[in-house]
Amino acid sequence: MPSALPSPRPAAPDPLVALADRCVQCGLCLPACPTYAESRIEAESPRGRIALARAWALGTVEATSTGEDHLDRCLGCRSCEAVCPAGVEYGALLVEARARQRERRPAGVRQRTIEALAARPSLMALALRAYGWLHPFLPARWRPLPAPPRAMTRPSPALSAEDTVALFVGCAAGIYEANLRSAASRCLAMLGVRLHAPDGQTCCGSLHAHAGDTRGAARLAERNRQAFASTPIVLTLASGCHEAVARALPPSAHAVDALDFLAERLATRAGAWRWRSGPERVALHLPCTQRNVVRSVGSLRALLSAIPGLEVVELDAGHGCCGASGAQMLEDRARAETFRAPLLQQLADSGATRLLSANLGCRLHFANGTQVTVQHPLEFLAERLEAPASPRPPAVAD
Ligand code: SF4
Ligand code: SF4
Repeated sequence: MPSALPSPRPAAPDPLVALADRCVQCGLCLPACPTYAESRIEAESPRGRIALARAWALGTVEATSTGEDHLDRCLGCRSCEAVCPAGVEYGALLVEARARQRERRPAGVRQRTIEALAARPSLMALALRAYGWLHPFLPARWRPLPAPPRAMTRPSPALSAEDTVALFVGCAAGIYEANLRSAASRCLAMLGVRLHAPDGQTCCGSLHAHAGDTRGAARLAERNRQAFASTPIVLTLASGCHEAVARALPPSAHAVDALDFLAERLATRAGAWRWRSGPERVALHLPCTQRNVVRSVGSLRALLSAIPGLEVVELDAGHGCCGASGAQMLEDRARAETFRAPLLQQLADSGATRLLSANLGCRLHFANGTQVTVQHPLEFLAERLEAPASPRPPAVAD
């Protein structure tokens, strides 16, 4: 007689193990990984880190400080994810692995201070202003970031705005990207779009999630969800914030990278603008988050290639990662500088007058190592975008 008892339900799979089990260990991601290229050690590769995180999750291997170091040294660039034929979501796996690591080994004081400031943008702004005042007097080892800009350009309002679009500001960007926001608002004003930064928004939480503070990241996401509840489009400027903002938004809203948005609006407003021509050579850095996550590289290349007289030199030393990697450039400056060095050498060799990069963390890291002007591509585009000259009135005959 068959038993009337229900058969026991299989236990839900461990989410980290489920993510890791998609890896078929083909090794195709290894040539794309900057830390593997540097060390040639399997444990410093995506495949090695996935195997390590899986073994820790299953309890088949004990976590040691050497193993933790391998996880620490991942730059989170997700170049491995971009080339993986099996669709391994390495970014999600890394966040999960770091969250468990944080339970084994609590975050240090510096990381927690950075996270606390990022979660309170007004406090972050105060701290950065104080840092800016002190900057000229500090020894080099206490200057992990360039001084924030002092003179801020004023945004120009769209006189006849047809459209209003919400803007995500961020944490350190509140101070460091003030001029970028003005540039974005000038560009978009020309196209009849007004930018509006809703109150109540906060840090995107990427910095927290990548260091394993998933609860802190979720709290910030909730605040952003409420701040952008009534806005269908949210523009993001920093490629490193884009994914976290997109995930935080309610289904009625979606995040759009500002470069994608500008490219699309320019295409639909022919005749309302033109590029100012002039010879110049600029260097272009394509951040890992822009290449592997946001994917606005096509829009950016198309925008720059349309400018008459402009020569663009793409920096591509190593695997493109500059080593900034969230707060890692503050936690381990020497290592971050190792990844930056070949890119700075390319920049110097290129003879470019400025360096363009769409991610704030990368720009801060570069600006701390070069005298060349470092800007978001939108700041440069805003300089070259202008209204067409009105046709000259016909000469009046005597
Ligand atoms: S992560 Fe993807 S590319 Fe890398 S070893 Fe696993 S299956 Fe292959
Ligand atoms: S995220 Fe970047 S550094 Fe980390 S394993 Fe993948 S390719 Fe390597």
